[in-house]
Amino acid sequence: MTQTNPVMKVVTFHGGVHPPEHKTESNRTPIRSAALPPFLILPLQQSIGNPAKPLVVVGERVLKGQQLASADGMVSAAIHAPTSGEIIAIGEHQVPHPSGLADLCITLKTDGKDEWIAKTPFDWRSAGPKAVRDYLRDMGVVGLGGAVFPSHLKLNTQAIDTLVINGAECEPYITCDDRMMRERASEIIAGILMVQQLLNAKQIKIGIEDNKPEAAEALRLAITANQSHAVAAIEVVLVPTLYPSGGAKQLIKLLCDIEVPGGVRSTDLGVQCFNVATIHSIYCALAHGEPVIRRVVTITGNVERPGNVEALIGTPLKHLLKEAGDKGSSGYIYGGPMMGFELPSLEVGLSKAGNCVIAKSPVDFPEKPREMPCIRCSKCAEACPAELQPMDLFWFAKSKNFGKAQERNLFDCIECGACAYVCPSNIRLVDYYRFAKSEIWAAEKTKHAADLARERFEFREFRAEREKQEKAERLAAKAAQKLAQAEVSDDPEDAIRAAKIKAAMARTASASESPASDVGVVATDADQATQLAAEKKAKIAAAMARAAAKKVEAEAAAPVVHSEESVVAPAQNIPVSSLDKSDRTKEILDKRREERARIAAMSPEERSEWEAAKQAEITEAKAAAALRKAESVAPLEESASSLDEEKAAKIRAAMAKRDAEKARLAAMSPEEKAALAAERQARIDAAMAAKAAKAAKDE
Ligand code: SF4
Ligand code: SF4
Repeated sequence: MTQTNPVMKVVTFHGGVHPPEHKTESNRTPIRSAALPPFLILPLQQSIGNPAKPLVVVGERVLKGQQLASADGMVSAAIHAPTSGEIIAIGEHQVPHPSGLADLCITLKTDGKDEWIAKTPFDWRSAGPKAVRDYLRDMGVVGLGGAVFPSHLKLNTQAIDTLVINGAECEPYITCDDRMMRERASEIIAGILMVQQLLNAKQIKIGIEDNKPEAAEALRLAITANQSHAVAAIEVVLVPTLYPSGGAKQLIKLLCDIEVPGGVRSTDLGVQCFNVATIHSIYCALAHGEPVIRRVVTITGNVERPGNVEALIGTPLKHLLKEAGDKGSSGYIYGGPMMGFELPSLEVGLSKAGNCVIAKSPVDFPEKPREMPCIRCSKCAEACPAELQPMDLFWFAKSKNFGKAQERNLFDCIECGACAYVCPSNIRLVDYYRFAKSEIWAAEKTKHAADLARERFEFREFRAEREKQEKAERLAAKAAQKLAQAEVSDDPEDAIRAAKIKAAMARTASASESPASDVGVVATDADQATQLAAEKKAKIAAAMARAAAKKVEAEAAAPVVHSEESVVAPAQNIPVSSLDKSDRTKEILDKRREERARIAAMSPEERSEWEAAKQAEITEAKAAAALRKAESVAPLEESASSLDEEKAAKIRAAMAKRDAEKARLAAMSPEEKAALAAERQARIDAAMAAKAAKAAKDE
């Protein structure tokens, strides 16, 4: 049996206000169709989630109903061409947003043909629940009550007991839902039955404020006229006209006497809520394959012909205000006077969220009085439907104590503006709450980005460690293989090599057991490097001993300047035999002077380049020498072992001293090295000058 209770006795919610309704200005005339504008400006951000991704390019001709942009992820919805025409721009354009900032939009030049794309029938009854949800997402269905929450997500729920249909339309001035219920009641009832079936809801309650008796009556008639037995589950419930009875939690409280606590979803309590206009768009999509390309919007306030207009999404608001006979207004509000915002410009396209545009007159919307200090009168707390302490939230938001604001349930605030409406100090309380929320969201976004960066860094570290470990394991396996080969060989050298490998492996093992070697594989690598360096040093030491012996023999005939520069500086590469002693010395001195003068004349950049090049030459020369010596290590070791013990000991001592000196040099700071080089250079210069003087005296 169809329930058609005239007025049900309902419970009430906490707080609420009753501002002047201003409904009758716009609800007395039927919905009219807006004329086709020359351009449509379609924002890509038309849901609370991600903006849609464009599927078209500039210059492309599109048909009415063609998908222009697809949903990007779960929380998103597609956008369609509201009429046929040509895409003339995809880029930044001002959008209806309180910030006044531009956002990505598709601009469509209409061709007046209004040519539909071929519609593909969708059998929603036999399609699975997921297929229906995907279809609605691709048809761009979002909440048309103002929240633009994607409807397919609201259908993705289980165990719904009660389906609540929101026809309260509690905010002053707005009457688009009222006119929809009056004029399209049978389609709304058909849509409600579709959603009931999709959610498997047991009962349906349509909540309408008692200032809309015509709408309630129209729905009752539509229920009676509907042939489906399922309409027996539908109740039309009149609720008291009290703002904000259209808030989801407030309407659920009114209709079901269920309190939905903060942080809990109504679906957790078996209740799901849809706005009547959203239900109508679901019906159009499932029954007729029509995407959301139009909506009914109230144009009211300071205009000649206030009323409700069915306009294509993207219609410039300027076009709608002109049609309504704008009387030259002081500003425009997008949405209602309680929850809407001042439009930065009329050069923006109508969005799916746009349920009302109010042209302001100085009489209805006088200048806001100056804010005064809070007097702790508690009127805001009495009016708050969310049972918050708005004066405390205001204080914490103003002092940027966002943690405390969150502790006081800032995010339970539905931004209804009831507190600001009653505040005798004219404090724009909602602006402070919006500011605090946006700051918290921004901080969370930053934290999320930092967490992601830290995770990436930690993963990179882990990967580097793993690669080191793998390398160490490969080296260990190679060493073990070499050891095995050396141990079975008869060659005495292999026996020495095997002993060295064993020693290195023992050191590695003890290092890895040592508590100091927390870095594990790093220590293993370091040990191996130390071992290799020690072996190389031993080979170099032997080679240098042999060279030292030769040098002693040659010194009597040709004194040599000992410096690093002598290894590489062209000025010192002079064949000894081609010059007599004094000429050679003089030439060396001349070339040195020239070289020093050239270096002194260098700019700092040239000087650093020269030093880098010189250092590279030295390193290269040393590496080449080390390589040559390493290649001849066996003969060198043999020759070293053939020296008598005393001589070998002296050479080892000399080499150890040299190694110690090298280590000392390596440990020096750049300043100490520079000072040492200068000192050495001074000594060399003095020695060369003395030699030159001696040569001159000899002559
Ligand atoms: S209504 Fe205004 S003045 Fe009174 S307590 Fe709230 S914020 Fe303060
Ligand atoms: S705006 Fe927030 S704090 Fe103010 S009355 Fe509404 S819910 Fe309460």
